[in-house]
Amino acid sequence: MCRLVLLGPPGAGKGTQAVKIVEEYQIPHISTGDIFRMNIKEGTALGKKAKEFMDKGELVPDSLVVDLVRDRLEAEDCKNGFLLDGFPRTVYQAEELDKYLSEKNLNLTKVIDIYAGEDVLFERMIGRRVCKNCGAPYHIKNMPPKKEGICDRCGGEVYQRADDTEETVKNRFEVYNKQTKPLVEYYENAGNIVHIDGTIGLENVFASIVRIVGA
Ligand code: AMP
Repeated sequence: MCRLVLLGPPGAGKGTQAVKIVEEYQIPHISTGDIFRMNIKEGTALGKKAKEFMDKGELVPDSLVVDLVRDRLEAEDCKNGFLLDGFPRTVYQAEELDKYLSEKNLNLTKVIDIYAGEDVLFERMIGRRVCKNCGAPYHIKNMPPKKEGICDRCGGEVYQRADDTEETVKNRFEVYNKQTKPLVEYYENAGNIVHIDGTIGLENVFASIVRIVGA
């Protein structure tokens, strides 16, 4: 049984690791960013509201995020664990998650903090691309799709997210430092956080995660 949270600055490789982790542990991947992007694609009211904040690199207000995650965690497929990716992003969200879990007599197995310097991350994010259809992550230099603009996995269109542009990325770092970084200390106090260097290569990062989380 694995209840995991992936923490780390934008571009640390959370999405890439998430795909591998959920395959290894057979748990659902809950990415609030993906949920918002799906809502934007489908043109829902939530999507319209979220887009205003996302396009600027700002956080979607807590009030729009917390209930969404609570509902998702109620689903049958979360009974045997889950991987939260991109949630919590504020101390308030972390407190709400703790409240939810303690109501259910559950706790988090591990909070995995993937860290790296801002200069490395900046380079990564500007080159980042993603499949519009299945969400598979790519990088124009480090991990390009075999055919430019086309997903290796599903043949979907590989594109640059609107929030991966230079100006937005700068703002996302500021937002991370101000609103999300305090979570490292929050989970340090809770005693269940582990730190993994995000620059050692994606296979090594993954091997470290599996070593820490266990079989
Ligand atoms: P991500 O795909 O996790 O990088 O998220 C992309 C964007 O979605 C973020 O920059 C935020 O605007 C929004 N977002 C995703 N998760 C959250 C969250 N837990 N709280 C607030 N905003 C979020």
